[in-house]
Amino acid sequence: MSKSARRPQRIFSVVMWLLSIVFAVFLTGLGNTVMRDLPKVDKQISVEQFVDQEQYKAAQDRERDLERAVIPLSRAVEDAVQAERSAVRDYNSGKASFENWIKNRKATESAAQNPQVIARTRNVEALQNARRDAERRTEDARIAQRDAERARDDARRARAQLTGDARPAYRKALRGQEFRVFAMRLALTLPLLIIAAWMVAKKRGSAYWPLYRGFTMFALFAFFVELVPYLPSYGGYVRYAVGIVMVIAAGHFIIRGMRQYMARKQLEEARSEAQRRQSIDYETALKKLAAKSCPGCDRAILQKEGEEVDFCVHCGIRLRENCTGCGHHNISFHRFCRSCGVPSASHKAKTQTAEVGVEPTGPPAVI
Ligand SMILES: [Zn+2]
Ligand SMILES: [Zn+2]
Repeated sequence: MSKSARRPQRIFSVVMWLLSIVFAVFLTGLGNTVMRDLPKVDKQISVEQFVDQEQYKAAQDRERDLERAVIPLSRAVEDAVQAERSAVRDYNSGKASFENWIKNRKATESAAQNPQVIARTRNVEALQNARRDAERRTEDARIAQRDAERARDDARRARAQLTGDARPAYRKALRGQEFRVFAMRLALTLPLLIIAAWMVAKKRGSAYWPLYRGFTMFALFAFFVELVPYLPSYGGYVRYAVGIVMVIAAGHFIIRGMRQYMARKQLEEARSEAQRRQSIDYETALKKLAAKSCPGCDRAILQKEGEEVDFCVHCGIRLRENCTGCGHHNISFHRFCRSCGVPSASHKAKTQTAEVGVEPTGPPAVI
């Protein structure tokens, strides 16, 4: 919006943008509510749902029973190890005291102690046997524990196998569900996109454009937030294909728009200066002049610093003229002389043609 625009018009433009955004926000809120209240097609599915439930339950029970059986066996091993340690200590201390006693006996060489030697030797042997028994019990307990653990591991593998067998069916169901969710979202979003595209194509000049613009924002938001993340991937094929199609479509419309614009400009430039001036909207002309481009051909006005240019070098349209009242050098698109207030020659010519009945053509200004 140029500085020459009416002040309320500038405020109006900002307010209209706000209106568009607020409208889009409320539409999005409504859209989200609709999405939330739709029948839940995207409920969670898990691989367990595709396993034979009876078999799976039996495998689970078996695994749990075997798991429970391992616990007392592990405790038995702990106890046996403890008992073994104790037996080893008993044997070691018994052996040490026997050896001390033998040493003393050798020193005194008392033959009267022979029965005592036998008794003490037997005692040490008994301790040794007890140690050996304790070791054996530990070994047995370990073997029992190992067997129980193996049985449990086998049961665990069997259960995992059941889940593994169900995985292809689960994946298929997941893909099906992904597609259903996408199809439902597409069914809701596609009409919005089509309506928005129609609005952009046909309603840009409408007085209600701010509302249409709000709807278009909402449709774009719905497309990128409610649809794009749910595109089934199929290993990236769909996403890339959709991206390619969108770029081609965008390219087609941009190129077509540019060609139409060029054709229109060429047609305009072929007409007489007065006719062209007639077709240029006042506000549009001011906007373009403020941006230092020619209101006739949209090219940049070639101009040195401080120099005033009377004609566009590209299309020949008059940019400045002398006032018929005071001779002041004015911008020819202004309606009145900035020095004496006399209507400018171009403006007079324009109003005269308008009175004769030639309707001004050209696109209306888009706010
Ligand atoms: Zn020009
Ligand atoms: Zn003047």
